[in-house]
Amino acid sequence: KQLDPAVDEIAKKLSSVRNILLVLSGKGGVGKSTVSAHLAAALAHDNSTQVGLLDIDICGPSVPQIMGCSDHQVYQSGSGWSPVFVQDNLAVMSVGFLLSSPRDAVIWRGPKKNGLIKQFLRDVDWGELEWLIVDTPPGTSDEHLSCVQYLEKCNVRGAVLVTTPQEISLQDVRKQINFCRKVKLPVLGVLENMSGFVCPNCHHKSQVFPPTTGGASEMCENMNVPLLGSIPLDPRIGQVSDAGEFIFTRCPDSPAAKSYSEIIQRV
Ligand code: ADP
Repeated sequence: KQLDPAVDEIAKKLSSVRNILLVLSGKGGVGKSTVSAHLAAALAHDNSTQVGLLDIDICGPSVPQIMGCSDHQVYQSGSGWSPVFVQDNLAVMSVGFLLSSPRDAVIWRGPKKNGLIKQFLRDVDWGELEWLIVDTPPGTSDEHLSCVQYLEKCNVRGAVLVTTPQEISLQDVRKQINFCRKVKLPVLGVLENMSGFVCPNCHHKSQVFPPTTGGASEMCENMNVPLLGSIPLDPRIGQVSDAGEFIFTRCPDSPAAKSYSEIIQRV
């Protein structure tokens, strides 16, 4: 098969990136971007690990807002684009930085989106990174296929699949697991988000998205993939994300913060 010459250029550019992790979700709104941002920030929490977060969710780039850097711009240098550093060891690149206003919509067709993904993978100057977390669009689309093909010669460790406990979301995750198997992208595991809500008043735990089947754990067992962990539904996650902060810095003792620290040990 004829390889796009960009595959080699991307391999060269990303040769200083030791681990690439793709974050996927079957549906929109399940928390994929929030999870991508929290994983990147959790991996960079010790201040000594260099982490990059690349947002290729071209039609709905929410990473700049979640990372608290939506008013930043990216600069083009001789060798490529410089990402935005939100802390010394955490760099972010998103199509959101290229829009003149956060309210601008990106309405592009496939080839243009794929062209931008290629540029993002080939032209961003990340430098040395231990981890590059890639926030992908929801579903399994042309963009996912291009992304996997462009990264063919890079250090891709695999995919993290984000879902809610609800069957309608799990159905799409099964499709994504099959997609990953077809394109030989290892599935690092499934992360169940919005899994249970503990009432702050009466402390009763309720399922907001009740699984009508066995939920993510049964699905993982049946599909033979690891369950990386569960993050509860916690309104503070939305609040801290809107403020460009993270649950483990603002509420370090919350169950969600504890889940994130366990999850990064498993990726
Ligand atoms: P996606 O990238 O899958 O479309 P987002 O990351 O944008 O989803 O999340 C959708 C909404 O859900 C956002 O308002 C976000 O703040 C909120 N959210 C994500 N995870 C949680 C959670 N565990 N608890 C409460 N709110 C959450």
